[in-house]
Amino acid sequence: MEIEVRSQTDDEMIFVVRDAEVPFVNAIRRCAMVNVPKIAIEDVNIIRNDSAMFNEVLAHRLGLTPLVSDLDAIEGLPLPEDAEWEDFNSGILFSLHEVGPKVVYSKDLISSDSKIKPVYDTIPLVKLKEDEEIIIEASAKVGYGKEHAKWMPTTVCAYKQYPEITFNDEEEVDYDCASACPRGILKSDRRSKKIKINELEDSPLIGVENCTMCRSCVRASANGYINVGHKDNDFIFRIETDGAMPPKEVLLKACDVLGEKAEKFIKFSDEGGSK
Ligand code: SF4
Repeated sequence: MEIEVRSQTDDEMIFVVRDAEVPFVNAIRRCAMVNVPKIAIEDVNIIRNDSAMFNEVLAHRLGLTPLVSDLDAIEGLPLPEDAEWEDFNSGILFSLHEVGPKVVYSKDLISSDSKIKPVYDTIPLVKLKEDEEIIIEASAKVGYGKEHAKWMPTTVCAYKQYPEITFNDEEEVDYDCASACPRGILKSDRRSKKIKINELEDSPLIGVENCTMCRSCVRASANGYINVGHKDNDFIFRIETDGAMPPKEVLLKACDVLGEKAEKFIKFSDEGGSK
């Protein structure tokens, strides 16, 4: 199996996986979405809320506020399977005390751990009118995406099979198929009497990788000059996060989780599947 990284930023990673099977790539995708631990606000103690917003809505909004979830920081914290996880004080404690008139933003949450704080400062939490007061204590805990979307480290985690565009040289070149491409990746070259694959300036993907396999070009070609398919064992994978964790960290942890699951399964099989 080969992996070629096409682009990588703090919150997005695109890479090509070659010579892999669909179940394997899909298992990585699922582990990245639901089995990688992340920190999110779980318990909220609302001491005072004079705002027009219901307590439940406010607690939900706090839960969905992305928090920096560095894997090193997570290391020492209890996991949902640990008994002490239920304890309010076992998590990272946050406090919020504001008086209106003002819009309360995520930056107003005061964390007990300077490393674990909201990823973005400007997420509006609640609007307070003159003299309205809000006093909240909250506990952020490690969890998994399989329990709640707030613990899902990925906002996009998807793959597509590697596109393959072929031309039927026995037919006359059909330039209509190039003009039908909504992505602009097919280019008519009347001098060489060929259709060429364009590079897209703003895309990290190379040539045919930008094809969405919409088949508009195939439908536009009356003589079947062009055909669009895919390679069965090559994939273009994209991971985007909410900024809480770098996508590379999510991918590495997902691979670790999958490895642990495979080891458990092998051990179970070796023991004759008796437990
Ligand atoms: S399948 Fe769609 S995106 Fe791909 S080359 Fe044809 S028209 Fe363009």
